[in-house]
Amino acid sequence: MKTATGTMLVRNGTLVDGTGRAPIPRAAVVVRDGTIVYAGAEQGAVDVPPDATVLDARGGTIMPGLVEAHFHPTYFNVAALEDLDIKYPVEYVTLLAAANARLALECGYTAARSGGSLFNIDVWLKKAIEEDLVIGPRLAASGREICGVGGLMDWNPDFRKIGMEGLVLLVNGADDARAAVRKLVKDGVEWVKTYPTGDAAAPDANDHHTLCMTFEEMHAVVATAHNHNLKVTGHCRATEGIKNALRAGYDTLEHGTFMDDEALDMLLERNTPVVPALYFELASIENGPGMGMSQRVVDGHRETLEGGAESARRILRAGGTLGMGGDYGFAWNPHGDYARELQFFVDYVGFTPLEVITCATKSGAEILGRAHEIGTVEQGKLADLLIVEGDVVADIALLQKRDRFLAVMQGGVIKSGQCAGKSLESIASASSLAGHRS
Ligand SMILES: [Zn+2]
Repeated sequence: MKTATGTMLVRNGTLVDGTGRAPIPRAAVVVRDGTIVYAGAEQGAVDVPPDATVLDARGGTIMPGLVEAHFHPTYFNVAALEDLDIKYPVEYVTLLAAANARLALECGYTAARSGGSLFNIDVWLKKAIEEDLVIGPRLAASGREICGVGGLMDWNPDFRKIGMEGLVLLVNGADDARAAVRKLVKDGVEWVKTYPTGDAAAPDANDHHTLCMTFEEMHAVVATAHNHNLKVTGHCRATEGIKNALRAGYDTLEHGTFMDDEALDMLLERNTPVVPALYFELASIENGPGMGMSQRVVDGHRETLEGGAESARRILRAGGTLGMGGDYGFAWNPHGDYARELQFFVDYVGFTPLEVITCATKSGAEILGRAHEIGTVEQGKLADLLIVEGDVVADIALLQKRDRFLAVMQGGVIKSGQCAGKSLESIASASSLAGHRS
Protein backbone atom coordinates (compact mmCIF):
# COMPACT_ATOMS: atom_id res chain seq x y z
CA MET A 1 0.00 0.00 0.00
CA LYS A 2 1.48 3.33 -1.05
CA THR A 3 2.22 5.88 1.65
CA ALA A 4 2.10 9.65 1.29
CA THR A 5 5.15 11.72 0.42
CA GLY A 6 6.03 15.06 1.95
CA THR A 7 4.84 16.61 5.20
CA MET A 8 1.29 17.13 6.47
CA LEU A 9 0.22 19.05 9.54
CA VAL A 10 -3.12 18.10 11.07
CA ARG A 11 -4.16 20.80 13.50
CA ASN A 12 -7.04 22.43 15.34
CA GLY A 13 -8.45 19.26 16.85
CA THR A 14 -8.56 17.23 20.03
CA LEU A 15 -6.23 14.24 19.94
CA VAL A 16 -7.67 10.93 21.13
CA ASP A 17 -4.56 8.84 20.60
CA GLY A 18 -6.00 5.35 21.15
CA THR A 19 -3.83 4.52 24.16
CA GLY A 20 -6.62 5.32 26.60
CA ARG A 21 -4.86 8.49 27.76
CA ALA A 22 -7.00 11.59 28.33
CA PRO A 23 -7.73 13.55 25.13
CA ILE A 24 -5.32 16.40 24.34
CA PRO A 25 -7.12 19.62 23.28
CA ARG A 26 -5.58 21.99 20.69
CA ALA A 27 -3.44 19.18 19.37
CA ALA A 28 -1.39 18.72 16.22
CA VAL A 29 -0.18 15.66 14.37
CA VAL A 30 2.72 15.95 11.96
CA VAL A 31 3.05 13.28 9.28
CA ARG A 32 6.20 12.88 7.20
CA ASP A 33 6.20 10.44 4.26
CA GLY A 34 3.22 8.60 5.73
CA THR A 35 4.64 8.20 9.23
CA ILE A 36 3.70 10.16 12.34
CA VAL A 37 6.63 12.26 13.53
CA TYR A 38 4.76 14.26 16.16
CA ALA A 39 1.48 13.85 18.05
CA GLY A 40 0.60 16.10 20.97
CA ALA A 41 -0.14 19.68 21.97
CA GLU A 42 0.11 22.05 18.99
CA GLN A 43 2.38 24.36 20.98
CA GLY A 44 5.13 21.80 21.21
CA ALA A 45 4.86 20.59 17.61
CA VAL A 46 7.97 20.04 15.54
CA ASP A 47 8.68 22.61 12.83
CA VAL A 48 7.20 21.85 9.45
CA PRO A 49 8.51 23.10 6.09
CA PRO A 50 6.61 25.83 4.15
CA ASP A 51 5.45 23.33 1.55
CA ALA A 52 3.80 21.14 4.20
CA THR A 53 0.08 20.68 3.62
CA VAL A 54 -2.39 21.58 6.35
CA LEU A 55 -5.49 19.69 7.33
CA ASP A 56 -7.72 21.77 9.60
CA ALA A 57 -9.63 19.42 11.93
CA ARG A 58 -12.16 22.23 12.60
CA GLY A 59 -12.08 21.72 16.32
CA GLY A 60 -13.05 18.05 15.94
CA THR A 61 -11.38 14.78 16.88
CA ILE A 62 -8.06 13.40 15.60
CA MET A 63 -7.87 9.67 16.33
CA PRO A 64 -6.46 6.40 15.02
CA GLY A 65 -8.30 4.64 12.22
CA LEU A 66 -10.64 1.99 13.65
CA VAL A 67 -9.88 -1.72 13.57
CA GLU A 68 -12.70 -4.16 12.78
CA ALA A 69 -11.45 -7.31 14.50
CA HIS A 70 -14.15 -9.72 13.27
CA PHE A 71 -14.87 -8.87 9.64
CA HIS A 72 -16.60 -11.08 7.08
CA PRO A 73 -15.93 -9.40 3.75
CA THR A 74 -17.79 -12.08 1.78
CA TYR A 75 -20.98 -12.01 3.85
CA PHE A 76 -23.35 -9.95 1.73
CA ASN A 77 -26.14 -9.01 4.17
CA VAL A 78 -27.87 -12.38 3.93
CA ALA A 79 -31.11 -13.27 5.72
CA ALA A 80 -30.59 -17.03 5.33
CA LEU A 81 -27.33 -18.71 6.33
CA GLU A 82 -27.27 -21.02 3.31
CA ASP A 83 -27.12 -17.98 1.02
CA LEU A 84 -23.55 -17.49 2.20
CA ASP A 85 -22.28 -20.36 0.11
CA ILE A 86 -24.84 -21.17 -2.57
CA LYS A 87 -26.65 -18.03 -3.68
CA TYR A 88 -23.92 -16.58 -5.90
CA PRO A 89 -20.79 -17.93 -7.59
CA VAL A 90 -17.41 -17.06 -6.17
CA GLU A 91 -16.78 -14.53 -8.96
CA TYR A 92 -19.68 -12.34 -7.88
CA VAL A 93 -19.03 -12.75 -4.15
CA THR A 94 -15.48 -11.52 -4.79
CA LEU A 95 -16.89 -8.28 -6.21
CA LEU A 96 -19.29 -7.97 -3.27
CA ALA A 97 -16.37 -8.46 -0.90
CA ALA A 98 -14.43 -5.66 -2.60
CA ALA A 99 -17.45 -3.38 -2.20
CA ASN A 100 -17.70 -4.30 1.49
CA ALA A 101 -14.00 -3.56 1.98
CA ARG A 102 -14.42 -0.12 0.40
CA LEU A 103 -17.43 0.55 2.62
CA ALA A 104 -15.51 -0.47 5.75
CA LEU A 105 -12.72 1.97 4.90
CA GLU A 106 -15.25 4.73 4.22
CA CYS A 107 -16.67 3.97 7.67
CA GLY A 108 -13.30 4.81 9.22
CA TYR A 109 -11.96 1.25 9.53
CA THR A 110 -8.37 1.36 8.32
CA ALA A 111 -7.57 -2.22 9.36
CA ALA A 112 -9.57 -5.42 9.78
CA ARG A 113 -9.14 -9.07 10.62
CA SER A 114 -11.22 -11.48 8.62
CA GLY A 115 -13.27 -13.91 10.68
CA GLY A 116 -13.84 -16.26 7.76
CA SER A 117 -14.51 -15.94 4.06
CA LEU A 118 -15.95 -17.81 1.09
CA PHE A 119 -13.02 -19.79 -0.38
CA ASN A 120 -9.91 -17.66 0.06
CA ILE A 121 -11.39 -14.49 -1.36
CA ASP A 122 -10.05 -12.52 1.61
CA VAL A 123 -6.47 -13.63 0.85
CA TRP A 124 -6.72 -12.11 -2.63
CA LEU A 125 -8.76 -9.14 -1.46
CA LYS A 126 -5.93 -8.37 0.93
CA LYS A 127 -3.46 -8.48 -1.97
CA ALA A 128 -5.65 -6.19 -4.09
CA ILE A 129 -5.85 -3.70 -1.20
CA GLU A 130 -2.09 -3.89 -0.60
CA GLU A 131 -1.51 -3.31 -4.33
CA ASP A 132 -3.91 -0.29 -4.30
CA LEU A 133 -6.19 -1.94 -6.87
CA VAL A 134 -9.13 -1.39 -4.55
CA ILE A 135 -9.42 0.53 -1.30
CA GLY A 136 -10.13 -1.17 1.98
CA PRO A 137 -8.83 -1.83 5.47
CA ARG A 138 -5.38 -3.34 5.91
CA LEU A 139 -6.53 -6.92 6.07
CA ALA A 140 -5.57 -10.09 7.91
CA ALA A 141 -7.04 -13.05 6.02
CA SER A 142 -8.47 -16.32 7.31
CA GLY A 143 -10.05 -18.00 4.29
CA ARG A 144 -12.27 -20.98 4.94
CA GLU A 145 -13.25 -21.85 8.50
CA ILE A 146 -12.84 -25.23 10.23
CA CYS A 147 -15.74 -27.03 11.90
CA GLY A 148 -16.51 -30.56 13.03
CA VAL A 149 -18.75 -32.68 10.78
CA GLY A 150 -22.37 -32.13 11.83
CA GLY A 151 -21.41 -28.93 13.65
CA LEU A 152 -22.76 -25.40 13.38
CA MET A 153 -21.34 -24.68 9.91
CA ASP A 154 -22.22 -28.06 8.35
CA TRP A 155 -25.72 -27.12 7.34
CA ASN A 156 -26.17 -28.38 3.79
CA PRO A 157 -28.03 -31.72 4.05
CA ASP A 158 -26.30 -34.70 2.43
CA PHE A 159 -29.06 -35.18 -0.16
CA ARG A 160 -27.98 -31.93 -1.83
CA LYS A 161 -24.57 -33.51 -2.41
CA ILE A 162 -22.82 -30.13 -2.33
CA GLY A 163 -21.06 -30.33 1.03
CA MET A 164 -19.78 -27.04 2.44
CA GLU A 165 -16.90 -26.66 0.05
CA GLY A 166 -16.72 -22.90 -0.24
CA LEU A 167 -17.20 -21.86 3.36
CA VAL A 168 -15.74 -24.46 5.71
CA LEU A 169 -13.39 -27.39 5.92
CA LEU A 170 -15.21 -30.13 7.84
CA VAL A 171 -13.16 -32.38 10.10
CA ASN A 172 -13.59 -35.70 11.89
CA GLY A 173 -10.70 -36.20 14.27
CA ALA A 174 -7.20 -34.79 14.72
CA ASP A 175 -5.84 -36.06 11.39
CA ASP A 176 -8.55 -34.23 9.46
CA ALA A 177 -7.91 -31.13 11.54
CA ARG A 178 -4.21 -31.18 10.65
CA ALA A 179 -5.04 -31.72 6.97
CA ALA A 180 -7.46 -28.78 7.01
CA VAL A 181 -4.86 -26.44 8.48
CA ARG A 182 -2.32 -27.59 5.91
CA LYS A 183 -4.80 -26.68 3.14
CA LEU A 184 -5.13 -23.24 4.67
CA VAL A 185 -1.35 -22.86 4.85
CA LYS A 186 -1.27 -23.37 1.08
CA ASP A 187 -4.16 -20.93 0.61
CA GLY A 188 -2.06 -18.22 2.27
CA VAL A 189 -4.16 -17.32 5.30
CA GLU A 190 -2.76 -15.72 8.45
CA TRP A 191 -5.52 -16.77 10.83
CA VAL A 192 -7.23 -20.14 11.20
CA LYS A 193 -10.85 -19.64 12.22
CA THR A 194 -12.52 -22.60 13.92
CA TYR A 195 -15.88 -23.52 15.42
CA PRO A 196 -15.37 -24.98 18.90
CA THR A 197 -19.05 -24.33 19.76
CA GLY A 198 -22.51 -23.83 18.34
CA ASP A 199 -24.69 -20.75 18.36
CA ALA A 200 -28.21 -19.55 19.13
CA ALA A 201 -28.77 -19.51 15.36
CA ALA A 202 -28.99 -23.34 15.34
CA PRO A 203 -31.25 -24.30 18.27
CA ASP A 204 -31.94 -27.89 17.21
CA ALA A 205 -28.56 -29.61 17.15
CA ASN A 206 -25.87 -26.93 17.56
CA ASP A 207 -27.11 -24.32 20.01
CA HIS A 208 -24.90 -21.98 22.05
CA HIS A 209 -24.19 -24.62 24.71
CA THR A 210 -23.11 -27.31 22.21
CA LEU A 211 -19.54 -28.26 21.30
CA CYS A 212 -18.75 -28.57 17.56
CA MET A 213 -15.12 -29.74 17.81
CA THR A 214 -13.26 -31.99 20.23
CA PHE A 215 -10.30 -30.83 22.28
CA GLU A 216 -8.09 -33.20 20.26
CA GLU A 217 -9.19 -31.59 16.99
CA MET A 218 -8.61 -28.10 18.40
CA HIS A 219 -5.22 -29.02 19.77
CA ALA A 220 -4.18 -30.49 16.42
CA VAL A 221 -5.29 -27.26 14.71
CA VAL A 222 -3.20 -25.12 17.05
CA ALA A 223 -0.08 -27.30 16.86
CA THR A 224 -0.17 -27.39 13.05
CA ALA A 225 -1.04 -23.70 12.67
CA HIS A 226 1.62 -22.50 15.09
CA ASN A 227 4.22 -24.68 13.39
CA HIS A 228 3.51 -22.72 10.20
CA ASN A 229 3.37 -19.35 11.99
CA LEU A 230 -0.40 -19.01 11.64
CA LYS A 231 -2.63 -17.85 14.48
CA VAL A 232 -5.81 -19.56 15.63
CA THR A 233 -9.12 -18.22 16.77
CA GLY A 234 -12.54 -19.74 17.30
CA HIS A 235 -16.23 -19.12 17.71
CA CYS A 236 -16.56 -19.80 21.45
CA ARG A 237 -19.90 -19.53 23.21
CA ALA A 238 -20.31 -22.58 25.48
CA THR A 239 -18.22 -22.48 28.67
CA GLU A 240 -16.49 -25.80 27.97
CA GLY A 241 -15.61 -24.71 24.44
CA ILE A 242 -13.96 -21.56 25.81
CA LYS A 243 -11.87 -23.66 28.20
CA ASN A 244 -10.95 -26.13 25.45
CA ALA A 245 -9.76 -23.24 23.28
CA LEU A 246 -7.67 -21.73 26.05
CA ARG A 247 -6.13 -25.09 26.98
CA ALA A 248 -5.41 -25.82 23.31
CA GLY A 249 -3.47 -22.53 23.03
CA TYR A 250 -5.78 -20.37 20.91
CA ASP A 251 -4.37 -16.93 20.15
CA THR A 252 -7.72 -15.15 20.47
CA LEU A 253 -11.33 -16.05 21.21
CA GLU A 254 -14.34 -14.83 19.26
CA HIS A 255 -17.35 -14.02 21.47
CA GLY A 256 -16.15 -15.67 24.74
CA THR A 257 -19.79 -15.65 25.71
CA PHE A 258 -20.41 -17.85 28.75
CA MET A 259 -17.33 -17.38 30.93
CA ASP A 260 -17.34 -18.84 34.43
CA ASP A 261 -14.72 -17.97 37.07
CA GLU A 262 -12.36 -20.72 35.96
CA ALA A 263 -12.57 -19.67 32.30
CA LEU A 264 -11.90 -16.04 33.25
CA ASP A 265 -8.87 -17.02 35.33
CA MET A 266 -7.51 -19.13 32.47
CA LEU A 267 -8.08 -16.28 30.02
CA LEU A 268 -6.30 -13.71 32.18
CA GLU A 269 -3.42 -16.06 32.93
CA ARG A 270 -2.80 -16.48 29.20
CA ASN A 271 -3.70 -12.87 28.36
CA THR A 272 -5.79 -14.11 25.43
CA PRO A 273 -7.72 -11.30 23.69
CA VAL A 274 -11.47 -11.68 23.12
CA VAL A 275 -13.60 -10.13 20.38
CA PRO A 276 -17.18 -10.24 21.75
CA ALA A 277 -18.94 -9.16 18.50
CA LEU A 278 -21.99 -8.62 20.62
CA TYR A 279 -24.21 -6.02 18.98
CA PHE A 280 -25.10 -8.80 16.52
CA GLU A 281 -27.18 -10.36 19.32
CA LEU A 282 -29.19 -7.20 19.97
CA ALA A 283 -29.65 -6.64 16.25
CA SER A 284 -30.95 -10.21 15.95
CA ILE A 285 -33.43 -9.69 18.79
CA GLU A 286 -34.66 -6.34 17.47
CA ASN A 287 -34.67 -6.99 13.73
CA GLY A 288 -34.74 -10.78 13.40
CA PRO A 289 -38.44 -11.49 14.06
CA GLY A 290 -39.47 -9.19 11.20
CA MET A 291 -37.19 -11.21 8.93
CA GLY A 292 -38.61 -14.59 9.84
CA MET A 293 -36.36 -15.48 12.80
CA SER A 294 -38.10 -17.96 15.11
CA GLN A 295 -38.84 -17.20 18.76
CA ARG A 296 -36.51 -20.01 19.89
CA VAL A 297 -33.63 -18.43 18.01
CA VAL A 298 -34.47 -14.98 19.37
CA ASP A 299 -34.59 -16.40 22.93
CA GLY A 300 -31.16 -17.94 22.40
CA HIS A 301 -29.79 -14.62 21.19
CA ARG A 302 -31.23 -12.94 24.29
CA GLU A 303 -29.37 -15.39 26.55
CA THR A 304 -26.21 -14.90 24.46
CA LEU A 305 -26.55 -11.12 24.70
CA GLU A 306 -26.83 -11.14 28.48
CA GLY A 307 -24.06 -13.71 28.95
CA GLY A 308 -21.76 -11.97 26.51
CA ALA A 309 -22.29 -8.51 28.01
CA GLU A 310 -21.51 -9.81 31.51
CA SER A 311 -18.38 -11.61 30.29
CA ALA A 312 -17.14 -8.52 28.42
CA ARG A 313 -17.61 -6.37 31.54
CA ARG A 314 -15.72 -8.88 33.70
CA ILE A 315 -12.87 -9.19 31.20
CA LEU A 316 -12.41 -5.43 30.89
CA ARG A 317 -12.59 -4.80 34.65
CA ALA A 318 -10.06 -7.58 35.27
CA GLY A 319 -7.59 -5.98 32.84
CA GLY A 320 -8.08 -8.36 29.91
CA THR A 321 -7.88 -7.37 26.25
CA LEU A 322 -11.01 -6.87 24.14
CA GLY A 323 -11.21 -6.08 20.45
CA MET A 324 -14.21 -4.55 18.70
CA GLY A 325 -15.73 -6.37 15.76
CA GLY A 326 -19.21 -7.25 14.86
CA ASP A 327 -20.07 -10.09 12.47
CA TYR A 328 -21.59 -7.50 10.12
CA GLY A 329 -22.96 -8.93 6.87
CA PHE A 330 -26.41 -10.21 7.82
CA ALA A 331 -29.71 -8.64 6.81
CA TRP A 332 -30.37 -7.58 10.42
CA ASN A 333 -26.78 -6.47 10.94
CA PRO A 334 -25.54 -5.17 7.58
CA HIS A 335 -22.13 -3.96 6.43
CA GLY A 336 -21.68 -0.25 7.08
CA ASP A 337 -23.09 -0.44 10.60
CA TYR A 338 -19.72 -1.39 12.13
CA ALA A 339 -19.51 1.56 14.53
CA ARG A 340 -22.86 0.64 16.08
CA GLU A 341 -20.80 -1.89 18.02
CA LEU A 342 -18.99 0.98 19.72
CA GLN A 343 -22.11 2.87 20.73
CA PHE A 344 -23.67 -0.39 21.93
CA PHE A 345 -20.70 -1.05 24.22
CA VAL A 346 -21.17 2.40 25.76
CA ASP A 347 -24.97 2.39 26.02
CA TYR A 348 -25.70 -1.27 26.75
CA VAL A 349 -22.55 -2.87 28.17
CA GLY A 350 -21.47 0.18 30.18
CA PHE A 351 -17.95 0.90 28.93
CA THR A 352 -16.73 4.49 28.75
CA PRO A 353 -16.24 5.95 25.26
CA LEU A 354 -12.46 6.09 25.82
CA GLU A 355 -12.40 2.41 26.83
CA VAL A 356 -14.34 1.46 23.72
CA ILE A 357 -12.11 3.55 21.46
CA THR A 358 -9.02 1.90 22.95
CA CYS A 359 -10.54 -1.55 22.29
CA ALA A 360 -11.38 -0.49 18.72
CA THR A 361 -7.92 0.90 17.94
CA LYS A 362 -4.92 -0.12 20.08
CA SER A 363 -6.29 -3.53 21.12
CA GLY A 364 -7.43 -4.24 17.56
CA ALA A 365 -3.91 -3.57 16.30
CA GLU A 366 -2.49 -5.85 19.01
CA ILE A 367 -4.84 -8.63 17.90
CA LEU A 368 -3.64 -8.17 14.32
CA GLY A 369 -0.04 -8.38 15.56
CA ARG A 370 0.57 -4.91 14.09
CA ALA A 371 0.65 -2.76 17.23
CA HIS A 372 4.15 -1.58 16.29
CA GLU A 373 2.75 -0.03 13.08
CA ILE A 374 -0.86 1.03 13.66
CA GLY A 375 -3.59 1.38 16.30
CA THR A 376 -2.45 4.54 18.09
CA VAL A 377 -1.51 8.08 17.09
CA GLU A 378 2.08 8.09 18.28
CA GLN A 379 5.46 8.98 16.86
CA GLY A 380 6.79 6.26 14.57
CA LYS A 381 3.42 4.74 13.65
CA LEU A 382 1.87 4.82 10.20
CA ALA A 383 -0.52 7.73 9.78
CA ASP A 384 -3.72 5.67 9.70
CA LEU A 385 -5.93 8.43 11.01
CA LEU A 386 -9.60 9.25 11.35
CA ILE A 387 -10.51 12.91 11.62
CA VAL A 388 -14.08 13.63 12.65
CA GLU A 389 -16.01 16.86 12.95
CA GLY A 390 -17.19 17.00 16.56
CA ASP A 391 -16.24 15.50 19.92
CA VAL A 392 -16.26 11.72 19.55
CA VAL A 393 -15.60 11.09 23.25
CA ALA A 394 -18.68 13.14 24.18
CA ASP A 395 -20.79 11.50 21.46
CA ILE A 396 -19.55 8.10 20.30
CA ALA A 397 -22.46 7.95 17.81
CA LEU A 398 -20.53 10.44 15.64
CA LEU A 399 -18.45 7.47 14.49
CA GLN A 400 -21.54 6.22 12.63
CA LYS A 401 -21.93 9.50 10.73
CA ARG A 402 -19.75 9.26 7.66
CA ASP A 403 -20.79 12.75 6.53
CA ARG A 404 -18.96 14.06 9.61
CA PHE A 405 -15.67 12.44 8.62
CA LEU A 406 -13.13 14.96 7.37
CA ALA A 407 -10.54 12.33 6.51
CA VAL A 408 -9.91 8.61 6.62
CA MET A 409 -6.20 8.17 6.08
CA GLN A 410 -3.88 5.22 5.55
CA GLY A 411 -0.16 5.92 5.62
CA GLY A 412 -0.94 9.62 5.32
CA VAL A 413 -2.99 9.17 2.12
CA ILE A 414 -6.53 10.52 2.46
CA LYS A 415 -8.78 7.76 1.09
CA SER A 416 -12.21 8.96 2.18
CA GLY A 417 -14.04 11.78 3.99
CA GLN A 418 -14.75 15.38 3.01
CA CYS A 419 -11.08 16.12 2.28
CA ALA A 420 -10.60 13.14 -0.04
CA GLY A 421 -9.76 14.13 -3.61
CA LYS A 422 -9.26 17.77 -2.65
CA SER A 423 -5.85 19.40 -2.64
CA LEU A 424 -4.95 20.79 0.75
CA GLU A 425 -3.39 24.22 1.17
CA SER A 426 0.26 24.40 2.08
CA ILE A 427 1.59 26.19 5.14
CA ALA A 428 2.93 28.97 2.91
CA SER A 429 -0.46 29.75 1.41
CA ALA A 430 -2.63 29.21 4.48
CA SER A 431 -2.73 32.76 5.84
CA SER A 432 -4.41 31.74 9.08
CA LEU A 433 -1.28 29.80 9.89
CA ALA A 434 1.18 32.62 9.25
CA GLY A 435 3.80 32.53 11.92
CA HIS A 436 3.19 28.88 12.74
CA ARG A 437 6.85 28.21 12.16
CA SER A 438 8.25 29.61 15.34
ZN1 LIG B 1 -18.25 -14.37 12.55
